[in-house]
Amino acid sequence: MQRLWFEQAWLPDGWARSVLVTVADGRIASVEPGAEPGDAERHGAAIPGLGNVHSHGFQRGMAGLSETRGQPEDDFWSWREVMYRFLDRLTPEDVAAITAQAYVEMLETGYTRVGEFHYLHNDISGERYADPAEMAGAIVAAAEAAGIGLTLLPVFYAHSDFGGVAPVPGQRRFVSDVDGFAELVEASRAHLKGDANLGIAPHSLRAVTPEELDAILPVAGGGPIHIHAAEQQREVEACLAWSGARPVEWLLDHAPLDPRWCLIHATHLTDGECDRLATSGVVAGLCPVTEANLGDGIFPATHYLARGGRIATGTDSNICVDAAGELRALEYSQRLRDRRRVLTADEAAPSAGTRLFRDALAGGAQALGVRGGLVVGAAADIVSFAMSHPCFAAADPATILDRWVFAGRAGLIDRVWRAGRLCVEGGRHVAAEAVAVRYAQAMRRVLA
Ligand code: ZN
Repeated sequence: MQRLWFEQAWLPDGWARSVLVTVADGRIASVEPGAEPGDAERHGAAIPGLGNVHSHGFQRGMAGLSETRGQPEDDFWSWREVMYRFLDRLTPEDVAAITAQAYVEMLETGYTRVGEFHYLHNDISGERYADPAEMAGAIVAAAEAAGIGLTLLPVFYAHSDFGGVAPVPGQRRFVSDVDGFAELVEASRAHLKGDANLGIAPHSLRAVTPEELDAILPVAGGGPIHIHAAEQQREVEACLAWSGARPVEWLLDHAPLDPRWCLIHATHLTDGECDRLATSGVVAGLCPVTEANLGDGIFPATHYLARGGRIATGTDSNICVDAAGELRALEYSQRLRDRRRVLTADEAAPSAGTRLFRDALAGGAQALGVRGGLVVGAAADIVSFAMSHPCFAAADPATILDRWVFAGRAGLIDRVWRAGRLCVEGGRHVAAEAVAVRYAQAMRRVLA
């Protein structure tokens, strides 16, 4: 039994003082505010670890490699060509090494669980590996190396555009048919370790026909269902041409949306779609840093949150892994659009940092199919702040999350426990060096 005592801790009702947390078998066994520390380890302020609902781990390796202008109108689609060329060469060992680096960085910034939207299934020639879940095994190995919680979301991908268009050669490593996908998911399950769980991810309405979507949904069992939707205006127009409906509108009308679902991006929404999505119980998986990097657009967060919509954040392309940075980018996108300030706060939660953290914590746990927060029975996923950092000078607890989200740089996070195991100490992952060496070796091979 581990005993951790915090001067302050973020509990479901907000900040509490003098909180004693006990941990048994990686889970929280008790939470006691107003407690004496006794013989417990003493720390500053604690928050629960966040769920990162959307990652493509291998893309960490191409961060910074697509910022040179390649054609007069670079956009998401020209970036995708660079991404396809990068992944063409990746072996399972490369994926494990690159993904582990991304996961180490996630833990260092306060993400303790990741939803890996995993579509790189086939070998370099497009054939299945002898074990169809060989690549899933590489992701599990990366999660084990870093110690992060894993929600594995094997992707179903069959087409290159709406209406069942055949895949292009650059997609040969992603594709499967419905039966092959069911085998892949079962084979993936066999690789899981610890409290890892499994969902599914129909890639997008571009890559999956309505018939295929119906056929694969039972494979999810009770697990999460994630899908990319309405990231790009061109995708919205193509969906309208195909079906007469916009992507999110189509899903609201035709898919059995419920709280197991997470719509990734959902950037381009009409007011009507936004209202309906907000009351559907579905989580919108927002990736504001990647969406800014790819020039996707601005999610209508003020409208959506005012209607009670649920959100979570993801690091998606892993261009710059930073849990606080995603929340900051979300708030800043609204400010830049409206030329006003503090836009995601409301009367119940007047601080933007607090409101976004609270919502992303709840939405992240929902979308990853786990319990979140410092509550009995949840995984002991705990982040403590270095309260001696100048950024927290004379901090009233009510401003701690705003200081972290808006005013921090490196060094604000001191320790991170994941399932009770200390993964980050003094702001640095305990395996950071070894993981970085393997990452550098893999990158030299891939970029040679
Ligand atoms: Zn994505």
